[in-house]
Amino acid sequence: MFWFQACPRCQGDLFRTQDLYGSYIACIQCGYILTEGEERALEHAEGQDLPSQEPSLAR
Ligand SMILES: [Zn+2]
Repeated sequence: MFWFQACPRCQGDLFRTQDLYGSYIACIQCGYILTEGEERALEHAEGQDLPSQEPSLAR
């Protein structure tokens, strides 16, 4: 799985990989590893047609 130009640090390409500790998403260009929250946002955005702002949920 790849996300092109999605790195928050360098706008490089991200890819999902895994090691003994589990899977994670890292940047090909700069080696940045996404936080859990950033991963979730990325995978959440994937299923949406519009990459617009998330609607603020009413509390
Ligand atoms: Zn990067």
